[in-house]
Amino acid sequence: MHHHPDTTAVHAGRVIDAATGAVALPIHLSTTFERDPNGAYPRGYTYATFNNPNRAWLEDAVTELEGGAAAIATSSGMAAIASILSVLKAGERVIVSYDLFQGTARLLNDQLRQWGVEADVVDTTQPEEIEAAIRPETRMIWIDTPSNPLMRVTDIARVVEIARPRGVRVAVDSTFATFVLQRPLDLGADVTVYAATKYISGHSDVVNGLAVFREKGELYERARTFQINVGLTPSPFDCWLVHRGLRTLPYRMRAHSQNAQAIASFLETHPRVDRVYYPGLPSNEGWTTAQRQMPHGCGGMLSLSVKGGREAATGTVARVKLFTRAASLGGVESLIEHRASSPIQTRGQGTGFVLPDDLLRLSVGIEHADDLISDLDQALSGNWVP
Ligand SMILES: *Cc1c(COP(=O)(O)O)cnc(C)c1O
Repeated sequence: MHHHPDTTAVHAGRVIDAATGAVALPIHLSTTFERDPNGAYPRGYTYATFNNPNRAWLEDAVTELEGGAAAIATSSGMAAIASILSVLKAGERVIVSYDLFQGTARLLNDQLRQWGVEADVVDTTQPEEIEAAIRPETRMIWIDTPSNPLMRVTDIARVVEIARPRGVRVAVDSTFATFVLQRPLDLGADVTVYAATKYISGHSDVVNGLAVFREKGELYERARTFQINVGLTPSPFDCWLVHRGLRTLPYRMRAHSQNAQAIASFLETHPRVDRVYYPGLPSNEGWTTAQRQMPHGCGGMLSLSVKGGREAATGTVARVKLFTRAASLGGVESLIEHRASSPIQTRGQGTGFVLPDDLLRLSVGIEHADDLISDLDQALSGNWVP
C-alpha cells in the first residue's frame, strides 16, 4: 500500500525485534556473524565492514523514502561523495559548479586529479554552460542544489535532459533539501547524495552519509565496492541515530522551511540588510525553478549580505543571543556563521568562487519564527549606519 511520506518516514526500515518485541530498533554492535554448519550465512550478515543490521535497516528506509532502488550508508557525507566519484576512471571528466560544496572541491583537487580525473567548472544554474562543457570524456555531472552558501538552484530535470542522451550520469548533492522537499531520482538523476550529518539526522550529533541510487546497477555496485575496500563504514550507533532522525524529518523540514521563509521575507525589507539569498523569495533568480522543483518549501538555509561590509557582518554575529555562532547546519537549533572569517573555510577552492565578506549564513532551526526574527532584528539594529 502506498502511504504519505509522513507515514513512510515513521515506518520505513522498521522491524519489531523477534526475541523481545522491542518497538524501538535494537542496536547490533557485533562485528561478526555466525555461519551455519555447512558454512553458509543464512541471515545475510558476515562481517561488519560489509554489512550490519542497523546499516541495512537505514539503507532500506532511505531507499524507500527517496524512491530509489538501493542505497549505501557511509561514515560521513564526504565518504558518500567519494564513493560516487570513485567510479570515474583516469582520463574521464566530471562537470561541477563553481559554488559546489568545498569538501567536494577539495576532494577533486587533492585526490581525483592525482588519479587522472579532471573537473570542468561551470555555473550549473545555466544549462547552456553545461552543454558547452560536455566533452567525449565527460562521464558525470555533479550538482549541488540549493548550493552553498548562496542557495542557487540548478534545474535537475533540465540537466538530466542534457546528460541522458549523451550517456552522462547525473549526481545530486541534495543535503540542503532532503527527499522531503526535492526528488532528484524522480526527475531522472542517477544518484542522490547526502550529508546525513545535517537535516536527515537533524540534531547535530552524528556524522554520516547516504547515497541513494535510481537503479541497482553498476554505479551502485562500484560505489559500494569502493566504500568496502576503503572502509568507509558507518558505526551501528550512528546508523541508529540517523534512522531515528528520519522518522521526524518531514515535520522538521516543514518547520525549517516555514521559519526560513518568514525570516527571509523579514530580512528582505530590513534597512540594515543589503540582500537576501533564499530561493523561496520571488525576487530570487532561482525562484521559478524552485517553485517547480521544491513545491513544498525551500528548506532552512539562507544567507544575507549585511549593509556596512565585513565589520557590520561580524558585529551582527557578535550580538545574536538565540542563534548559535557555529559552522554546519540542519539541526533543530538555529546557527549563524560569518563564513569568510571561519578557519575551517578554505578560500579559493580552485573553482573561482569568492566568498563575500559581508555574507552571513543562517541554518534556521525549528524554534518559533517570531523569536528568531526578534533576535536577528536586535543584532542587525546594533550596526552603525551613517
Ligand atoms: C556537510 C556537507 C557535506 C559533507 O558532509 P560530512 O558529513 O561533513 O562529510 C557534503 N555536502 C554538503 C552540501 C554539506 O553541507
